[in-house]
Amino acid sequence: MQYWNSTYECMSRDEMTEVQSKRLIDTIKRVYHNVPLYRSKMQKARIEPGDIKSLEDLKKLPYTNKQDLRDTYPYGMFAVPMSKIVRIHASSGTTGKQTVVGYTRGDLDIWSEVVARSLYSAGANKESIVQVAYGYGLFTGGLGIHYGVEKIGASVIPASGGNTKRQLQIMKDFGTTILACTPSYALYLAEEMEEMGIDRSELRLMAGIFGAEPWSSNMRKKIEAQLGITATDIYGLSEIIGPGVSIDCPCKCGLHVQEDHFIPEIINPETEEILPPGTNGELVFTTITKEGLPLVRYRTHDISSLNYEKCQCGRTLVRMSKVTGRSDDMLIIRGVNVFPSQVEHVLLEVGETAPHYLLIVDRIDNLDVLEICVEMSQNMFSDEVKKVEDLEDKIKKEVESTLGINANVKLVEPKTIERSEGKANRVVDKRKF
Ligand SMILES: [Zn+2]
Repeated sequence: MQYWNSTYECMSRDEMTEVQSKRLIDTIKRVYHNVPLYRSKMQKARIEPGDIKSLEDLKKLPYTNKQDLRDTYPYGMFAVPMSKIVRIHASSGTTGKQTVVGYTRGDLDIWSEVVARSLYSAGANKESIVQVAYGYGLFTGGLGIHYGVEKIGASVIPASGGNTKRQLQIMKDFGTTILACTPSYALYLAEEMEEMGIDRSELRLMAGIFGAEPWSSNMRKKIEAQLGITATDIYGLSEIIGPGVSIDCPCKCGLHVQEDHFIPEIINPETEEILPPGTNGELVFTTITKEGLPLVRYRTHDISSLNYEKCQCGRTLVRMSKVTGRSDDMLIIRGVNVFPSQVEHVLLEVGETAPHYLLIVDRIDNLDVLEICVEMSQNMFSDEVKKVEDLEDKIKKEVESTLGINANVKLVEPKTIERSEGKANRVVDKRKF
């Protein structure tokens, strides 16, 4: 088993609690004195920095929301003067203003450190050639992975997103061993590979490190089979640091959170109460080493659970379950909570279709209607109406028994659902609220 930093990755729980307590106390002092929004939040809650004496006191602190970042747009929550900020990233929201994040030199070091740990966990080493097909720019995916690769001394190919044919040419000619991109783009690359007549044996690809969107474990199997690699899930969000907040280990039984930098909690998104390990809820993070934009109990809207049991890989860092969806991605269809990833799971379980789908929700006569458009696989593609209807029916029944909702299933011809070079768009909600 290889670790980038065994001191922290394999630390005992007692030692970790001590590290976290110390860093939390320091962070709270800094935000109280340097970020007006935190000072007023804490004053409203009648808490002073002195009240935070250990990790136990974390629960006394107020939550932070994306709206807080919007309200103080662009730099209002930075805890250092702009002269200390050396990098700015931003994430575009589907609604409203972008979320702007700033990094000090120290923050960039931490970021490379956690990405280096992640890459090692995914099997990378100095000899690796890593093709970064995440977009470079304001999005944290590209540059985030980039500096981690350089940190471990592997070779980075800054391919950035898009231009699929060129990506594959590079992958073949440059001898790429590790691919970094979104899982949906990995599948698209596999499809194009076939189209271009590139045989798997012409590639040196061994592993992939995929993230920036929720994906199911069946999707993992599909990617692993199609590309002939090990697929590792990397989790992160720009507000906390970017990719590298947590990472799959070879056991593939949850993602280890880099707890010496980010403390995770799981809460009930409605009541905000803290939930025990093993229970699904909303992930909340507190950064305890970040200088530029420290965040206290930041609500991610990602759904996960925590597991403190010992992992076979030897890492003692707490594991979070693979994120299956976001509480704001959650569709409520006739009162039933539905995540796109649950539908994905069913589709891949049934098989015979390609992993490209679109959920269309509409309201007809005051009733929610869900239509699942899914592509037939090349082998299944058939003009036989009966065969198509049978499969539609099979999926419909499976969705009904697994998710408890009625859906219309429509099989469409291969390659008719739009592909994305970044995050996939799985839902069209036509309902007017
Ligand atoms: Zn592990």
